[in-house]
Amino acid sequence: MTDDWTDGEPRIVVSVCDDCGHCWYLRRERCPRCAGSASPTIASGAGTVVAATAGDRGAIALVDLAEGVRVLGRCDPSLRPGAAIRLTFRGGADDPVAVPYFEAESQ
Ligand SMILES: [Zn+2]
Repeated sequence: MTDDWTDGEPRIVVSVCDDCGHCWYLRRERCPRCAGSASPTIASGAGTVVAATAGDRGAIALVDLAEGVRVLGRCDPSLRPGAAIRLTFRGGADDPVAVPYFEAESQ
């Protein structure tokens, strides 16, 4: 088990407070709002593009996940702010692990 966003698997793991329901991204044992205990939860993979940019090495997007957590990841270069996305994971010869890749929900 690792402490990054994937938990060692192709998924994004967020933390949800057992007491107040607050959700956040970076792992910590206690809720930053009420100090309640936290439970790791796998994100649904649905979200909305906040910002996106494309360059020579690909495109990246800032995405608000349905759980209320904002994350950064690679994306389809056609994505625009406001677009609904779904989360996939892609790896390559130069990538030791699969990384988040956002695609348009309608694809
Ligand atoms: Zn809380």
